[in-house]
Amino acid sequence: MYGPQTPDPTAPAVRINLYSDTQTKPTPAMRAVMAAAEVGDEQLGLDPTVNALCARVAGLLGKEAAIFLPSGAMCNSVAILTHCRPGDEIIAHESSHIIDAEGGAPWALAGARVLGLTGAGGQFLPRDIEAVLRGGSRYDPPQTLMVVEQTANQGGGTIWPLEQIRAVCATAHEAGLATHMDGARLFNAAVASGVAAADYAALFDSVWVDFTKGLGAPLGAVLAGSADFIDRAWRWKQRLGGSLRQAGFAAAGCLYALDHHIERLVDDHEHAAYLAGELAKLPGLKVAAPQTNLVYVDVAGSGHKAGFMADRLRAQGIMVSVMGARLRLCTHLDVSAADITETIAAFGALLG
Ligand SMILES: *Cc1c(COP(=O)(O)O)cnc(C)c1O
Repeated sequence: MYGPQTPDPTAPAVRINLYSDTQTKPTPAMRAVMAAAEVGDEQLGLDPTVNALCARVAGLLGKEAAIFLPSGAMCNSVAILTHCRPGDEIIAHESSHIIDAEGGAPWALAGARVLGLTGAGGQFLPRDIEAVLRGGSRYDPPQTLMVVEQTANQGGGTIWPLEQIRAVCATAHEAGLATHMDGARLFNAAVASGVAAADYAALFDSVWVDFTKGLGAPLGAVLAGSADFIDRAWRWKQRLGGSLRQAGFAAAGCLYALDHHIERLVDDHEHAAYLAGELAKLPGLKVAAPQTNLVYVDVAGSGHKAGFMADRLRAQGIMVSVMGARLRLCTHLDVSAADITETIAAFGALLG
């Protein structure tokens, strides 16, 4: 589903990058703050900027403690390794990032397999969990963890409603499973819904947020949970080589993003809504109204393949991603209103 695109040396430079919200470059103000950061030895707990970031994120998510990691994928792996043992089974939506986009990490690193549930919009219900609960006999793989992705990326950037989160977490906890939130875009959900990130996070035993998506930092993610959980997570961070040295440079960019790049996610959501609405008017395109910053375009009715459309756009300097039979267009802080207008016109010209 995901994957690097082979760069075509003859293609013009990318001017409008809708490939992913990971494509943001640090702003001059963010770079200045990063360059001036106070730093120390992170793995000894002596980097003041990393410590400040972890305290801030733990507070924002209502958790006792937090740990800085280089990437969101490492947050998922460290959390899974901390929660699970080899032979365990994890329950998640079948379209989730841990299944599709992390190189098989749960299987390869933790020896845990992920059972994929179906459900509209990348989401599932308590009854979907109940349908796969095994009962815990010695014949069964132990079921130890449930994972929810907020927002659900391949589900269309959908926001799990708070009540549904409460319900699936209650069902999982009753069955003895721990709960983990992949919050790569949790702040998109919080800004779009008005529900605090801590309220979404409250029922999860672990939760992380990414700074390299819409928040626009060049690296860094923070995993939060109980003090005991984070203590145990530290050993996996060390084992995986995720313990760092003067990481305050990175953490300073993340702190800057918390101060300056959260509220503006509203702009990305407005751009996505407008883009989707205009593309939906074009012949042969099916576009669901986005809830956040991800616009999925089903091009099947246009007579063109998604890859062909992406190549034609790329030839004009517009980069989008191909996700199976769909295109994904992702808005972020390096995509302006003018870029959106130009993209709509480019689609119109292709289909006109
Ligand atoms: C991007 C993403 C990740 C991985 O985050 P990285 O910081 O790129 O490693 C995990 N889950 C979801 C839903 C994502 O979109």
